[in-house]
Order: sequence, then C-alpha cells, then structure tokens
Amino acid sequence: MTENNEQKTRKSKKKKKISIIRILILIILLAGFIGAGVIGGWAFAIIKSAEPINPSNMYSLLDENSFIYDSKGKLIEKVESDGLRTIVKYDKIPQNLINAFIAIEDQDFFTHKGINPKRIIKALWEDIKAGAPVQGASTITQQLVKNLYLTNEKSIERKIKEVYYAFQLEQKLTKEQILEAYLNTVYLGSGAKGVQAAAYTYFSKDVSELDLAECAQIAGITKNPSKYSPLKTLKKEDVTSNHFIIDDDDETYTIVYNEKSKARQELVLKMMKNENMITEEEYNLAINEDIKANLKPGKKQVYGISSFFTDKVKSDVIEALMQELGKTEEEAEDMLYNQGLRIYSTIDLRIQKILENAYEDSKNFPNLIARKNSAGNILSKNRRSILLYKYTNLVNNKEQFVIPKGDYKYDQVGNLILFKGRRLNFTPLYENGQIKTIQISIKDAYKQNSAKEILIHKGGSIKISSEYKKYDSKKNIIISKEFLAKNPQFFLKDTNGNLLIAKENYSISNTGVVQPQSAMVIIDQHTGEIKALVGGREVKGRRLYNRAINPRQPGSSIKPIAVYTPAIDNGWTAADIIDDVPHYDRNGKLWPKNWYRDRFWGLSTLREGVQWSMNVMAVKIAEQIGIESSIDYLKKMGITTIKEKGRYNDKNLAAMALGGMTQGISPLEMTAAYGSLANDGIYIKPKSFIKVTDREGNIILENKSYKNRVVSPEAAFILTDMMKSVVTAGTGTYAKLDNTNSKIPVAGKTGTTSDNYDAWFVGYTPYYVGAVWIGNDVHMELSSGSKMSAKLWSTVMKKVHEGLPPKNFIKPENVISVLIDTESGKLPTDLSKRDPRGTVRYEYFIKGTEPKEFDDVHVELEIDTSTNKLATPNCPPTLVEKRVFIKRPIPYDPAQNNGIVPKDYIYEAPTEYCDIHKDNGNIIEFPSIPQNNPFENEDASLENETITEDPTDVEDIN
Ligand SMILES: [Zn+2]
Repeated sequence: MTENNEQKTRKSKKKKKISIIRILILIILLAGFIGAGVIGGWAFAIIKSAEPINPSNMYSLLDENSFIYDSKGKLIEKVESDGLRTIVKYDKIPQNLINAFIAIEDQDFFTHKGINPKRIIKALWEDIKAGAPVQGASTITQQLVKNLYLTNEKSIERKIKEVYYAFQLEQKLTKEQILEAYLNTVYLGSGAKGVQAAAYTYFSKDVSELDLAECAQIAGITKNPSKYSPLKTLKKEDVTSNHFIIDDDDETYTIVYNEKSKARQELVLKMMKNENMITEEEYNLAINEDIKANLKPGKKQVYGISSFFTDKVKSDVIEALMQELGKTEEEAEDMLYNQGLRIYSTIDLRIQKILENAYEDSKNFPNLIARKNSAGNILSKNRRSILLYKYTNLVNNKEQFVIPKGDYKYDQVGNLILFKGRRLNFTPLYENGQIKTIQISIKDAYKQNSAKEILIHKGGSIKISSEYKKYDSKKNIIISKEFLAKNPQFFLKDTNGNLLIAKENYSISNTGVVQPQSAMVIIDQHTGEIKALVGGREVKGRRLYNRAINPRQPGSSIKPIAVYTPAIDNGWTAADIIDDVPHYDRNGKLWPKNWYRDRFWGLSTLREGVQWSMNVMAVKIAEQIGIESSIDYLKKMGITTIKEKGRYNDKNLAAMALGGMTQGISPLEMTAAYGSLANDGIYIKPKSFIKVTDREGNIILENKSYKNRVVSPEAAFILTDMMKSVVTAGTGTYAKLDNTNSKIPVAGKTGTTSDNYDAWFVGYTPYYVGAVWIGNDVHMELSSGSKMSAKLWSTVMKKVHEGLPPKNFIKPENVISVLIDTESGKLPTDLSKRDPRGTVRYEYFIKGTEPKEFDDVHVELEIDTSTNKLATPNCPPTLVEKRVFIKRPIPYDPAQNNGIVPKDYIYEAPTEYCDIHKDNGNIIEFPSIPQNNPFENEDASLENETITEDPTDVEDIN
C-alpha cells in the first residue's frame, strides 16, 4: 500500500509534471496553430486579392519603359538607356551570359519550383551570423515577378504575393521562357534595362556578340547596379591619375572604369568554373582579358529636342520619389527606368523648339574679345596670365602633348622637375587632411572653327601614379627617377629639347565647346510651369552640363529683386528721389561707378534708377533698406545660392545692390524670382512635371505648387510698371515685342557684370516670364553685353507670343495715378512745369503713399544775367531776370568731390551773389561772356544723348 501509495504519489507527481508540460506545449501549439491559421488565412486573403497574372501578356509589360509627355500629352521621351532596346529571344542570348546569371544569381534555377527553401534557410543563417541581411534569397523567378508585377516596397504582404506569383509563373511557363523574360527586364545600371540594353550601354555591341569576360561583367552588375556598374561618371576635377579613363568627350564629366566591378566579374567567372559551366582554360582567358579596354559606352539618342529639359524632369522626378515616397536613390532610379512610369511634364514643345532654333543660330550671340599673345594664346583681361592655350601649341601634329624646353629640368640625381605656372596645373587632393595625390592636369585650350568661333577644349590629366610625384619647396612637381626608369617611353624628347607625351598618357577633351555659352528659361508665371529650357548651345547628347540650373553672376539684373522690391514693399514709391552724385565706400573710395562712364545724373526717381540701371542709386537704397532685407526678399523669391557665411559672402552692397555675388543666381531661379513680380507678388516654385502615374494610370506623385507671397499685388504692379520703363525707353529697348511696348508690353531688366563676362536680360509679359544669360565658361569678355541678351529674348518671345491677343498688366484698384514732379517727387507747382526737361508726369502709387506736399526743389530766383549770380539790389534792373532753378534738399559741392559735377548741376541754383555791381551802381568792371540760360540750352538736356549700357567700340575676335 505504502509502496503503491508511494508509486501513485510519484506517478501522480510525474503525471502532474508531464501534464503541465503537455498543457504548456498544447497551448503553445494551439497558439501556433491559431497563429498559423490567422497568418495562413491572412496570406490566403492576400493571395485571393492579388490580381491574377497572365504570363501571355508578359511582353507587353516588358515593353513599358517610363514615358515623358509634354504639356499637351504628346510623347517626348521614352526613358531608356538607348533607342535600340528590343526584346531579345532566348536563342539569341549567348549561353555564357545565361550561365553567368544562373551562376551568380540562382544556381538551382533549373530544378526549383519558383522558390528555393534551401537557399532561404542558408541566406537566413548567413544573415544571423552577420547580424544583418547579407545574402539575397530570391530566385530568378522571384526577381522576374518583382520586375514585372510588384513595387519596390518591402513588406510581408509583397513577399507573399511574390512567392505566389513565382509558383504561378513556374506552372505556366517553361524555364527558358522565364529566363528570357528575366534577362530582358533585369536592371543593369546606367539606365540599362535588359541584357540587350546593357550590351549597348557598356560595350556598344549586340548582346549576341558578347564574349565570356563581357558576359560575366554584365551578370555581376545585377546585385547592386550603382556599386558594380563597370562605368563610373566623375566630374573632371575628380579624375586622378589612378583612374582608367573610358570616355572624356563630355565637357564636364569623365567616364572612368569602376575597379570594384572587376572583382565582381571575377567572382562570377569563378562560380561559373565551379559549376563546370566553363573550363579552366576559358576561365583563365576571361580573367586576363583587359575588360577595361573593351568598354565603349554607347551614345544616347534623344528625340527631337535637346535633353536639357528631360534631364531636368528626370532628376526632379527622382528627387520627388525620394522625398515624397521615401525611396532610396537606387529605387527611384529603378522606378524611373523600369516601372513604366508616365511622367506628365510641363514643357510646351512649340516654345521649346522656338528656343532651340534661336540657339542654333550663331548670329544671336555676341563675339568675344580675345587678347592674344604672339604665340596665339588667349590672355586674361589684365594680360597677366594665359586663359586659354592655342590647341596646336599644346598638342603637336602627332597628337603628343608638348612640354617646352624651358618648362622643366632634371635635378642632380635625375628626377624630372616640372615647373609650376606653365601649361600644367598641379592640384593637391586631400584625404583626412593629408595630401593623397597631386593631380597634374593640362590647362584648357581653344580651337577656332571656320566661323572664327572659339571652342574650348577642357584639359584632362597626365597619367602618372601618385607614388612617383611630389611637390618641391617651390610647389613645382618632382617626377621621381624611378618612374622615368620604369617608363622610359613616357617622356620623349624632340630635337629642340621639348618633352613629348604620347596620346595614351594624357587626356584633353575631344569635343570643343563653342563660346560664348548661354542659357534661357521660360516659365508660365501663373502656374510656375517651366515651358522651355535650354542650358547651352551647340552641344549634343544627354546629361549635358546645364547652365540653366547653374549660378552665374547676375550683375544689375539683381537690382529689381534685391533692391527695388524691398524698397517699394516698405513704403518707398517710384517717385522717391535719390541724388545720383559721388558716393564713397567705407574706405573713402569713390564707389560705385555708374555704367555711363564716370558720370552722375543728379536728382533721379526710383523709376529712373531702374530704367537706366543706376548703380549709385541701387547702392544708396540698399544701404538704407539694409542687406538683411535684400537677402530676405531674395530668399522669399526662391533664390537658394546666397552665401551668408565664410570669408567671401554675399552680405555686402556689391553683392546685393550690384549683383557681384560669390556664386551668383541660376537662370532658372532668376526666371522664377521675376515670375513672382509677374504673378501679382506670389512666388511659385518652378516645376518641370505635373504628375507621375504608374503603368496602370494610378497617380503616384502630384507636383503641388509651392507658393509664397512676396509682396502685395499693388507693389508687384508698381515694380512691373517701373520695369516696363526699362523696355519702353531705357537700357532694355531691344526686348520690345512691338514698337510702342503696349500691345503685349514687356517689363524687364538688363544685367551686365562689370568685366563684361556675363550679360542678362530677365523680363516678362502678361503671359510668360523668361531669363537669358550669355557668358563664357572662362573669363573672357563679350563684345556686346545685355543688348544681345535683350535681343535674343525678344527674338524668342516674339515667336512665342505669335497669335496671342493683346493684353496688358492689370492695375489693382488700390493703385492710383497722380501727377507729380520728378525732381522733388512731390506734387507739381507752376515752377515745376517751367522745367524744360518736362519733369512733370504721372506716376503710380499705392493709395495712401502718394505725395501730399508740393515741389520744393524748383525755386525761382532773381539773377544778374551778366554774371549768372544772384542779383543784389545794386544790379541794374535791365540785367536782372527771374529764373527757375533746382535746389537740392541735400546740398552738393563739386569742390568737395574732386570737382565732379553731376549732370543736372547746370540747373542748380547759384549760391553766390553778384559781386561786380558795387554800391554806387557803377558799370561792369570786367566784361564777361554771358552764359546761356541753362534751361534754354538743348545740348545740356539728357534726351539727346545716345545711351547704351554696353561699352562700345571693342576689339573683335579676329
Ligand atoms: Zn549784378
């Protein structure tokens, strides 16, 4: 009994224990089943809701690249790497290429059923070991599903669909069909979708012509196209001698070999060998093949128009996908090239073509002023340095680069020393504060075409590895004797003692870029939509250097937005007066100069200041409104390139009042900034696309307008009207669309930088706003300044406005027109009307800001006509006459300003009294030649002067 009891007790204890464990297990299992059930049910629901796929229409999906449409829905570009992409059939694809993909992406492809559990577990294990995802487990079938049917997002739901579709594809298609589809859709970098596109993109040949080494190179890209693409695009200045240059044709970018891609290619080859897809011998041959030398990037085709606009659309869409949908750059690029996006752009093809036609006509652009030395090299403006070498001075007829006898020497131990400041630049490249290497690059050169135009050829580098070069104490470069010993053929010597470098050891751009260059942007100010955009002339290709989006010195074209807008918005009026007389900077130096040589025009209204681009006035106003205010308004108008920090910044009068900025303003931002004045004071951020849909037409991006009020509609109208004066009768008359500037009026502003390097016209009509910039890629003077820009603006805009009904700028109700005197800025008196210059005119005012006081500048005084001084009671009455003068509110004394006399000084009231008629009323002691009454002297008036903002009679290029 006891025993039994004991046993029982033990049993029951044991039973208890077991049952607790059992219950626990049961609960866990149950929970697991329920969980699995729930998950299973959920997965089933997802699968049920998944749209059925139809593999027979697969190729219609494959055909869908992304498309860019114009504003009327017309296709302007199929977004793809080149125009040659076609679906290649399985039997046209080299077996090596198929094997390469299978070896690196999915070795069990021919045996699995769509997914590969073994690989999933292995991948998971690798991930756990590494603590982060390292290995992809997707089969080729899964990758195809992803390319065809799914978006990039990473969710369990998407994964379930992917697996489900993969099973389906495997049931409905043969392995070969799946591979064929996969190889035609896989993204292979540089915009290349599919192996055919990749074959052209990287090797400029048909896919069937690829050899084993090339096949492996292409297959290696898939995993991470931006990392393993064999091509890397660098800015020219970032290219070092350690880079292998593949294509140096572009003016700003150089395509070099991506060394990382070689290791990847070798891995692919190794895996092919391990899988017995290739023999040892084939493997060795392929490994040793100089794949770099095979790379020949295909030239991209463009449809009808230059790529400046579509490049901008593409980069804007990628940016929006990243910002709005949280995509990585890689994903965004993949969406753009692979996922059949429909991009509805803002471009108006009619306007774009007008613009491009104008840019093809070299007559629309000024010549250059080239100062050459006796050797034909072009000198800088001060003639102290060489801006551009004559191409044939740098490169001889055997295409060897020439280092003249005097530009080098050998030291005692036999190192070669290249002197600084000659035809080569020595630029240190730093890494962690240490000089990593010194780049030896060739200075820019020029050629002239048959039309005598100058073409700049960007200098590239001399290819010497970093370990062989260093600076000496004078910053010359020492090329070590070890290099010379190892490379005896690198520096050859001709009979004159010049050193020669063979073509393969240096680079200089083959493509010359014509000068001057130019950019123009046209925007519909009411919507912010970019209607046309050109970023250069006589350049071809894609990914061009886009001058429309790169900042340039704005010169005087900054004045309306940085000076007059804040002034008018803060209570100033168009009738306010500034005295255009000598002004001095903080060091007491006479500054600034006006463009009308060293002259000063005296009392002038703000309207005249804009109209005639008066520098002293802009500086004086900027001083009063404050630099911060200028910066504030520029920012409100979307200018992003103001430099506020650092030793050289824009927080000064030269930058804000005269446009001598550190970086400058891009033509695109300039157009949009003026657009805010054209659009009743509301800035709209310019946009290149309206919406983007996926291939089913679902909207995935909508480009909502970013808007921002800068000034009141009243202030905007007054500024517009002031700028209308520029075009009607000021520095910008060449921009007129009709003689009277009244049918479709133009308001705008010229801008010429002080050295005549940059010339602008920015202007608008009630329909469109546009900015033109003309200038050089190096600091060479233009033979003609803003006149050419204004002319080009009107050449284009006349055609753009053809057929549009006459329309004026609309005056807000709160703006009134008041008769004023333009010397005082106040209400006219009888005296004002006697000023023969016609200083009485109507001016617009925001209600409440109009003058209430009467003209106090015009005064009537009694003059002795024999002396032209103030009459005294002693002067004979026959000589005394009442005359009208101006009397400056703030007196000006030429004697205190180096004798400088402002142009209106002849009207200034005399301050001295007649001193020849003495108390006794005697006769004149010294007969004097009577001066003319200034108000009767036509020669003194401004109207007869021919005024141009451009310096004239400058030496022409030839
Ligand atoms: Zn007198």
